[in-house]
Amino acid sequence: MRAALVLPVIAEMDSSRRRFLEQAAFGLSAASLGSGLVTEILAGQEGTRRAAPPISIASANGLAAVAKAVEVMKRGGDTLDAVIEGVNIVELDPKDNSVGYGGLPNERGEVELDASVMHGPTRRAGAVAALRGVRTPSKVARVVMERTDHILLVGQGARDFATAHGFENVDLLTPESRLAWIRWKETLSDRDDWGPSPHTPAPASPAGQRRLEEERKRESDILAEQIAGGDEERLRELIAWADEVARRPPTGTINCLALDSAGDISGVTTTSGLAWKLPGRVGDSPLIGCGLYVDNDVGAAGSTGRGEEVIYINGARTVVEYMKRGMSPEQACLEALKLIAARYGNDLEKLRDIDVNFYALNKRGEYAGAALWSHTVNSRGQKRRRQFAFADSSGARLIDSAYLFERR
Ligand code: ASP
Repeated sequence: MRAALVLPVIAEMDSSRRRFLEQAAFGLSAASLGSGLVTEILAGQEGTRRAAPPISIASANGLAAVAKAVEVMKRGGDTLDAVIEGVNIVELDPKDNSVGYGGLPNERGEVELDASVMHGPTRRAGAVAALRGVRTPSKVARVVMERTDHILLVGQGARDFATAHGFENVDLLTPESRLAWIRWKETLSDRDDWGPSPHTPAPASPAGQRRLEEERKRESDILAEQIAGGDEERLRELIAWADEVARRPPTGTINCLALDSAGDISGVTTTSGLAWKLPGRVGDSPLIGCGLYVDNDVGAAGSTGRGEEVIYINGARTVVEYMKRGMSPEQACLEALKLIAARYGNDLEKLRDIDVNFYALNKRGEYAGAALWSHTVNSRGQKRRRQFAFADSSGARLIDSAYLFERR
């Protein structure tokens, strides 16, 4: 029997209201199962979360964003202005390495940003991809929507458009994100010339020997030392962080959706995309119907995680379509995740390193987040539960996402 079949993976979910059944009997042969496991949602509508608008949901890095979005809607602001003001906080946050300023760069060390916006009430969208030098690409996406007859501008065209509309061209790398990129570059291969030379001559004097030993011990570069400013502890932490990021670049992105009390809906997705990507690579975030979709008559959905998977199944549009046919936001997200799993024959070995999350809300104020895997795991084996951010008039909080597979 294949390893994928014996792994006890299908979620017996922590909430009794969100139970799954492992439908595939372990006794069945791999051939009779196709190449993996099949799950069936049993919960029907009973697990549905619902709140009175104005409400906003986002990926887990969007706690401040959803709070801001609700605040804007409470003041009578438009749903699109609400979500854009929300995600601007994250785009401008140098500590979020997956979005806007401080986002991790492509393989050449250049930050290329993707963003899309969709305004339910006017049924319009705008987007930019592989855009350089703008900290808040979601604002450029909105200008594409409002001031052109196009939907998506990319690369140099997007840059020129942003410049024409007064967006400055700024450096998006922080010292930390540059350091992580350099560590990645240096550790990528021992056959290129990046990193300390393996050809070290015999030291000519004791001073030379000491110097070499010190260099090896320090294991850092000028940049790290500048950031740490003489604080040895900070220097060690910084190097450890940069190496972790280089080895296992975090996925990120923020998707933020909002529903106001008039029943209007908008959404935005903004990201620096996959770290160390090929220059020009475009993910799901700026593609309408993939990383974001809004139908003001039904609801909205968005995604984070490995964009290629979401593009293959037209993720956000699929989730909204499922909701249109009567599924709750949670069911719709899980059904879309199943399409991704099915592309790999539900083979959990193949799916192990794939990370995809959907977020959805409908016109009735029902909402959900759902992930392919219950937890993320870093290279030290530390697990973190997948969550999403939610806010209504009573405040903002993180909520555990539903999931398809339990990570043990
Ligand atoms: N979905 C984003 C992309 O593929 C990345 C992410 O969410 O981490 O570009």
